[in-house]
Amino acid sequence: MKSDSRSEFTFSTGRPWLDFIATLADRLGEEPFERLWDTGRLALWLQRGMGAEPEVKVTEADLEHARWAREAIQVLADAALDGAAPPQRAVAAANRALELYEPPRARIEGGRLRAGAPTSVETAVSWLVLEALQTLSGDGARLLRRCAAPDCRAVFADPSGRRRWCPSDRCGVKHRVRAHRERAKQVPGEDVGGVP
Ligand SMILES: [Zn+2]
Repeated sequence: MKSDSRSEFTFSTGRPWLDFIATLADRLGEEPFERLWDTGRLALWLQRGMGAEPEVKVTEADLEHARWAREAIQVLADAALDGAAPPQRAVAAANRALELYEPPRARIEGGRLRAGAPTSVETAVSWLVLEALQTLSGDGARLLRRCAAPDCRAVFADPSGRRRWCPSDRCGVKHRVRAHRERAKQVPGEDVGGVP
């Protein structure tokens, strides 16, 4: 059963590539959680995260390709955050995904101009890799942070420079609940107020 609340996708970073790597939840915890557990889940993510049409077919090979590219950009993000040199293998993987790049097409929807959505998984993945590359090789890398929750450690962009928790809210809320319980334990009988 996949009833775990961790199964929910998060689209809170405003950057598709960061939302994409967040599809492997709690990756450094004892129980990492794969949100892309089958081809249908990847299809759903592409629709919600990148505006792909439901007609975009997702095969098992596509799912494997997406997870593989996700791992590569996660490794590159980790290296950037750690101030380490990017591992050659991850760079090579990113380049292989980029070889499948096709540019977005402009289209008109409801009388308005829109950037086209990806029409295949390979195209979608190449866009995500390109976006990651642009962030990680540019000024945007300085805004990246890791969630303070030790089991989460999700990467997110923090233009304010003040966030401790990933924008999914899950970690921040969990932390506030725990802190509230700690305070209640330490000060018996004292009303420490509600959890925000
Ligand atoms: Zn988190």
